[in-house]
Order: sequence, then structure tokens, then C-alpha cells
Amino acid sequence: MKGYAMLGIGKTGWIEKERPACGPLDAICRPIAVAPCTSDVHTVWEGAIGERSDMILGHEAVGEVVEVGNMVKDFKPGDKVLIPAITPDWSSLEAQDGYPMHSGGMLGGWKFSNFKDGVFGEFFHVNDADGNLALLPDGVDPADACMLSDMVPTGFHGSELAQVEFGDTVCVVGIGPVGLMGVAGAALRGASYIYAVGSRPDCVRIAKEYGATDIINYKDGDIAQQVLEKTNGRGVDKVITAGGGTEVIETAVKMLKPGGRIGNINYFGGEDYLRIPRAEWGVGMGHKVIVGGLMPAGRLRMQKLASLLVTKRLDTSKLLTHRFEGFDKIEEALMLMKEKPSNLIKPVVLINW
Ligand code: NDP
Ligand code: ZN
Repeated sequence: MKGYAMLGIGKTGWIEKERPACGPLDAICRPIAVAPCTSDVHTVWEGAIGERSDMILGHEAVGEVVEVGNMVKDFKPGDKVLIPAITPDWSSLEAQDGYPMHSGGMLGGWKFSNFKDGVFGEFFHVNDADGNLALLPDGVDPADACMLSDMVPTGFHGSELAQVEFGDTVCVVGIGPVGLMGVAGAALRGASYIYAVGSRPDCVRIAKEYGATDIINYKDGDIAQQVLEKTNGRGVDKVITAGGGTEVIETAVKMLKPGGRIGNINYFGGEDYLRIPRAEWGVGMGHKVIVGGLMPAGRLRMQKLASLLVTKRLDTSKLLTHRFEGFDKIEEALMLMKEKPSNLIKPVVLINW
């Protein structure tokens, strides 16, 4: 089979590989919609997870099941399915402990295009099919549903980590596709004021559509200072960090009220340490909580998120600024993600076999 792969740090290309084998609990799928991710760019061009050779990329897909193992109960060939970016081993102790994304070790649920080939292949392997797959609901567009792999669960997890409550004032730092879903998630959880931090006009417009009440342009000066000015010096109840560099945690602590929470969904590359400002952290006693987390996954979670598309409580089509048709277009879509023109939010590739 053919796949679009990381050949080494900074290098990508089409390769031929054996079709993956199906274990008793697993499924083999082929993609019908896939999306490249900022994480793919970090993986290839920043070497974020270290050296990999001939590893098929991609972790965001809607697919069709072509084969299932003899112990799979609830899926069969021909089923159209949602494929989460994170595919934990549900029998692991970490999953039983409430942290499936860390099954088998920290971040161990992140398998696609990390420990094994991803979804940019003609076929791909899904472990623990009954635990990880969910049916694509009737009437939901596969391109829209593809945003359920990573953008929705990751963005929404920001609100969960920050424990956004009714009436909270929330700042979402970064309004790329992940942060936009952070905004949408905070709005769905009942935030009152949502300060969205970004600069690109298309992202700003869509952030407002998803519920941002105010926009803060980080290019206009210190973000924390701008937020403190808007809140008469009080700061916000919650911060979701979905953009910026390692300095963003420091910024978030500075704009947070005592007792507030920061939910980080950013990937931090580059520097080895994050800084916490001593004074603004209440010299160690400010009750300001910082939590960072990889998205939760699992069939039930995916079904619940998909039901938001069915009931139209969430419209992911706003994220899809660039659409491609055909498996061969994966390369173009990934390169677009790498170049990130200012009107790009998320590209999607639809594949008709
Ligand atoms: P994008 O690059 O599309 O968006 C980044 C956002 O951050 C943009 O709105 C950008 O503004 C803003 N930004 C850039 N620089 C700054 C700055 N200095 N201060 C504040 N804001 C800034 O990224 P994605 O939305 O695709 O991903 C966001 C993060 O989430 C990435 O780190 C990614 O790796 C991570 N991620 C994490 C996952 C997880 O499971 N935890 C999964 C997927 C992604 P502008 O409008 O100017 O572009
Ligand atoms: Zn992703």
C-alpha cells in the first residue's frame, strides 16, 4: 500500500509499505477524510518526537472499516467510523486510573504517527477497535466529522482542564483550530466573557462566531496587561492556552485571579523549562492551578462529541478553510499546513475510493 510518510526529520515523501496486520481486537480502516495537523508539522520539521524514518503521518481521520479481528464485537467491514487521534489501550492500568491517554506510559495513547504508522496510508491499523472507534452518525459530513479526531476533543479538553463554569470569564490564548474549539467549548460550558487571543482576521472573525466576546491581539502588546486592563485589574477566572510559546504559562499566571485554573493544550517545544512568575503566583500561595493534558479519547467520548454535530450545537465546518479531493492531495494539504498562509485554519482531504 501507499502512504505519505516522514522519511526523517525535515523530510517527507510517498512510500510503499505492507498493509498492516489485524490483531484479534483490532480493525483495519481506510481513510475517507483526513486532515493534517500542526502536530504533524512539529513532528516532521521540528523533530518534536525525535527521529523517525518511513513512518506514515497523520492522526486525524474518518474512515471505513475493511477488516476486524475475531474478538471485535461492535464493528464490521463497511462501517463508516470516527477515528480519534489518541487510541488508548483500554485495559491498561492507566486507563483504569482515569488517564487512558497515558496508557502504557506518559502520552502512550498517542500512537498514530508516533509509535506506529498514521492515517495518511491507504490502510491503517486501529488497536482496541471496540474501545476506540465510533460510528459516523447518519447525515454528518465526513469532513466536518474529521474535526472530531483531534481539534474538538483537544480544544474542548482545554475547558475541561480549566474547569470552566457558568458565568466564568475565560481567556483563550491562541485561536488556530485548536484554540477556536477552546472558545467553542468554553461557550458551550457557559462562560460569560471569552477573551480570545490571536491576530489573523479570519481566525478573529470565526472566534467571534464561536462565542468570543473580545479579541486581544498579542501583537498590540503584553497579553496579560491587555487582559488585566479589560477586567479592571481583577484578571480572569480561567485561561486556556492553545498557542504561543513557552512564555504563555507565565502570561497565563499573570492574568489569572487567585483560585483560577489554567488548562494547557499547547505542545511546548524548544526550551527545557516553563517559567512560573513568583509574585503573580502568590509567592507560592495564590491557589492558581496549572494543568496540561493530552485529549481524552474512547468510543463513548467520540459518540458524545459527534452528537453535538448531529444536534447542530457545534458547527465544525467553519474550521475547514481548504478542501482537497483525492488521496494524492494529502501531500499538498500537509505542505499548506506547514506554510500556514494567513487565511488557513484547517485543510481537509476527502477521499473517494
Ligand atoms: P495554530 O498555529 O493554527 O494557532 C496558534 C494560535 O496561537 C494562533 O491563533 C496564533 O495567532 C496564536 N499565537 C501565535 N503566537 C502567539 C503568541 N506569541 N502569543 C499568543 N498567541 C500566539 O495552531 P493549532 O491551533 O493547530 O494548535 C495549537 C497548539 O495545540 C499547538 O501547540 C499544537 O501543537 C497543539 N496541539 C495539541 C494537541 C493536544 O492533544 N494537546 C493536539 C493538537 C495540537 P495568529 O492569529 O497570529 O496566527
Ligand atoms: Zn492533530
